Amino acid sequence: MRVDFEGRIKNRVLRSIGEKVMADVPVTEAEALYMLGTDDILELGVIADYLRRKINADVAYYEVNMNLNYTNICELRCPLCAFSRGVKDADACVFSLDEIEKRIREANAFGIDEVHIVGGLNPDLKMDYFEGMLRRIKAVNPEIFIVAFTAVEYDYFARLNGISVEEVFMRLKDAGLGALPGGGAEVFSPRVRKKIAPLKIPGTRWIEVMRIAHALGLKTNATLLYNHLETPEDVVEHLAMVRALQDETGGFKTFVPLPFHEDNTKIRARRSRTTGFGDVRLFAASRIFLHNVPHLKSLWMYLGDRMAQMLLHFGVDDLGGTYHYEKVVHSAGARTSDVGSEASLRRLIETSGFRPVRAAANYQIRKS
Ligand code: SF4
Repeated sequence: MRVDFEGRIKNRVLRSIGEKVMADVPVTEAEALYMLGTDDILELGVIADYLRRKINADVAYYEVNMNLNYTNICELRCPLCAFSRGVKDADACVFSLDEIEKRIREANAFGIDEVHIVGGLNPDLKMDYFEGMLRRIKAVNPEIFIVAFTAVEYDYFARLNGISVEEVFMRLKDAGLGALPGGGAEVFSPRVRKKIAPLKIPGTRWIEVMRIAHALGLKTNATLLYNHLETPEDVVEHLAMVRALQDETGGFKTFVPLPFHEDNTKIRARRSRTTGFGDVRLFAASRIFLHNVPHLKSLWMYLGDRMAQMLLHFGVDDLGGTYHYEKVVHSAGARTSDVGSEASLRRLIETSGFRPVRAAANYQIRKS
């Protein structure tokens, strides 16, 4: 597949980046930094769209899924987080396994393919709770795909239970775990992490936990939380760490940039909401720099459905799921509905000229 970059890209730096991409040569960190600052976003989009179509043709994925935020009690209380509560807070909560099973049964009757599970670091919840949770979900419907727990949670489960991260993975795989989401990565820069999530595992440990997951055959996402205190250099460092692990393991299936929402958090970001230009540059540059990660996801509930849809032309091939019962980003002020519908996701994809495909987090196609 060849594209006439010469005719479509006037910006000389972007044209040379385009030629490298077409020749399968990874772009440099300096070039990533340039892309994050360019005003020529339509020309940047030509390159990102070339790569997106080379990898995923005209397909855009979406999922019919539910969110399960099993507890909001968390030991870390990161300044960036609007979701967590202390154990004595009036609205602190932990779902019992019976409550979880009830929610799964309701969502299963509705027809979900997947459950997406994340929660706080709650010292009262031991391995038997999580093994029981996954087994109960599979007992309701063995076809439900389980994508569960961040690298931060796995590291915590291991320490709390006095076992290795490998053992945590193996036991939860045995109970039905299918893949990992990519949360907890935030931004790897130690300087920024110290301010937004000082007690969270460092970026290097996050990468190490993912390395272990990949070695055990678990595919994972990687996220980037942007638009708070990070600099473009921090973003490039983050992308480079993801790309390096991907070169080593091939275990990342999807990269998911997440714009920061500051309401009810302790962080006052330098900027308030993201700008359209900022979102486009970040997504397109990520698509181009992470040439070795097959999928790029724009979560409509973080970005709004209109921007998420636009990004399909700037490298994105996955709009995310219906996410019934999402609570994390909505605690931080996301203004989108917390219940998307399959019909609206299909419409967003079709009206932007792509072909909607319903899939679970492993990109196995499900019937719509
Ligand atoms: S971001 Fe995660 S680890 Fe930090 S306080 Fe919130 S739930 Fe806990």
